[in-house]
Amino acid sequence: QVVNYAPFTLLPSAVPRALFEQAYAVQQDFNLLVDAISQNKEFLEQTLASTIKVDDFTAQLFRIYMQVLEEGLAQTVFLGINRSDYMFDCGLDGTAALRQIEINTIAASFGGLTSRTADVHRLVLKVLGKTEEASHLLPNNPAKGLALGIAKAWELYGSQRAVVMFLVEEIQRNIFDQRCVENELWSRNIRVIRKRFRDVFEQGSLDASRRLYMDGQEVAVVYYREGYVPQNYDQQNWEARLLLERSRAVKCPDIATQLAGTKKVQQELSQPGTLEKLLPGRPEAVARMRATFAGLYSLDEGEEGDRIAATAIADPDRFVLKPQREGGGNNLYGEELRQVLEKIKDSPERTSYILMDKIKPQPALNYLLRAHSPLQVSECISELGIFGVYVRQGQELVLNQAAGHLLRTKAIEHADGGVAAGVAVLDTPYL
Ligand code: ADP
Ligand code: MG
Repeated sequence: QVVNYAPFTLLPSAVPRALFEQAYAVQQDFNLLVDAISQNKEFLEQTLASTIKVDDFTAQLFRIYMQVLEEGLAQTVFLGINRSDYMFDCGLDGTAALRQIEINTIAASFGGLTSRTADVHRLVLKVLGKTEEASHLLPNNPAKGLALGIAKAWELYGSQRAVVMFLVEEIQRNIFDQRCVENELWSRNIRVIRKRFRDVFEQGSLDASRRLYMDGQEVAVVYYREGYVPQNYDQQNWEARLLLERSRAVKCPDIATQLAGTKKVQQELSQPGTLEKLLPGRPEAVARMRATFAGLYSLDEGEEGDRIAATAIADPDRFVLKPQREGGGNNLYGEELRQVLEKIKDSPERTSYILMDKIKPQPALNYLLRAHSPLQVSECISELGIFGVYVRQGQELVLNQAAGHLLRTKAIEHADGGVAAGVAVLDTPYL
């Protein structure tokens, strides 16, 4: 096997302190919101109705969701691990505003590796003789925070013998990120196993009360680091997913929470009145969340969709066109956006996308260090992610926290793409 170091910036990047604090301050609200959506069948049904007609992947997830609800949930403890991502939009007067890019509700990664990046940057600053600056870098340990949530869910599940199962990809490129979280669990004397969908298909079973067993070993928590893109599934893997969802085990996330993280749901949340309906009696939380939203637009069939599609075709650089996909590299920009929209503008396929205002951050210079790549200074922009973790038992929320942050930086030539896609690299905020 081949091991490479994870790519990182040579230097920490400047992040406005007020926006960093704003992102932390709104994370518990977003945890509450995602959890509320996951329990709101009517909202998910209505919001995704148009999408599932044209997007097969979302439709298949939705079918499993409905099937599990019809049978009745065996799961009573719920664990959410998400990451809300932001960019700093630069206004005409030069002031920056926090703008949410998306919330990842499944397999939000790099909480492990980024628990080490502040140490790297502290060292680099010291080597450069900037000891004072080095002391300003904040401690950050999402691995510990995520493990805390998993451990809490494991404990509430209530079986000492049961294990935590990481559901992982066939080819594991980001294993060390996961190991950081895994090791935190072992240090709490919680056993962890790593399995793929195909192992679940071959070895997984449910007993009469729908407890999940892998080759005779009871599973308390299933932590998905896979299962968020169509390529992760064949017929067997879909069957394995259904088995897991039907089980009593705590899924992180359950399928409803995965659906809550779709781009279509994000777009619907920006509609006037939606947040208020989802979180009645919480006007402050609603205001904090709304303050981070960028313009989001439905491309559903009808006059409104026609109008915004025409606006985007006329001025494509103002927007990003997003399909219902995760993992980076799927969005469309500029000329490509225009061409695709022209092609699908009168077809139902348009409904499988949403439109979003393009965020335009102020670039800064940095070096991106990547294995086997030449070293050069690049103009860069950054994306800040805040990890959220929460645990609910029945109707009672027993844990709701921000669990640390992630800063990813990329050269401005790349419109899209994260660290796994080979575009962005790990960074540390310098407030
Ligand atoms: P994915 O689920 O594929 O990660 P994202 O919505 O996070 O989808 O988009 C992927 C990347 O595209 C982001 O990391 C960001 O770099 C860029 N991006 C997404 N939305 C915008 C936007 N509104 N403005 C500017 N860049 C964006
Ligand atoms: Mg993303």
